[in-house]
Amino acid sequence: MLEVSGASAGYGRVQVLWDIELRVDEREIVSLVGPNGAGKTTLLRVLSGMVPVSSGTVTFRGDLVNGRSVEQVVELGISHVPEGRRLFPGLSVRDNLRLGGWRGKHTDLEPVLELFPGLTTRLDQVAGSMSGGEQQMCAIARGLMSRPELMMIDELSLGLAPVVVDEIIERLPDIAASGTSVLLVEQDVDAALRVAARAYVLETGRIALSGKAQDLLTDQRVQESYLGLG
Ligand code: ATP
Repeated sequence: MLEVSGASAGYGRVQVLWDIELRVDEREIVSLVGPNGAGKTTLLRVLSGMVPVSSGTVTFRGDLVNGRSVEQVVELGISHVPEGRRLFPGLSVRDNLRLGGWRGKHTDLEPVLELFPGLTTRLDQVAGSMSGGEQQMCAIARGLMSRPELMMIDELSLGLAPVVVDEIIERLPDIAASGTSVLLVEQDVDAALRVAARAYVLETGRIALSGKAQDLLTDQRVQESYLGLG
């Protein structure tokens, strides 16, 4: 569904990504892990049209993503939950969710409330007054309001307690099964590999390893560098 082929990108003259090859299939959860500064956020920005590629291609269901505006990429069916959630803190949860569906005129909150029932009693609460975990659920729910076929989530666990992270990560298989593939960028490598079917390890702007998440969990290099084992 999403195909990244030989993609390089950066900021001005500073190159951050080299020759990236990556794909996400339908109803699949794929994790992208790697050390700080490796370029994970930059890669998500490339996929959502915020950062252009300097070479290579990004296609979604055969349509070129590169060269499109952020709005056009959303219309293609790609949704981006950015690092730090970026909710409208002064607006209610209901209004944050409605804004997520605004472009496609999707107003029905039921499907996302089924996934995150805890938000139901918070619809009238100002988003900025919720806990970090509730805000992350709201950010993911908002991203789902546009009925995307691919959702990219950057640093899902940022600032959250492990038990809350587990609670949110447990929802991802349901999201994938409902028709929205997930590309997850996550510092908690263990959790990221356990929930995904496949994963990529990005190091200094290059894909250093990729494969079935199950295999990467037992890979010696991954265990030593990212799981604190070995
Ligand atoms: P982290 O896990 O710390 O968020 P990351 O893997 O997501 O790291 P990026 O945020 O993509 O990495 O950063 C990759 C490189 O690009 C870093 O060297 C960073 O300083 C640089 N960079 C990020 N954003 C910009 C920007 N807007 N302008 C210039 N350089 C940037």
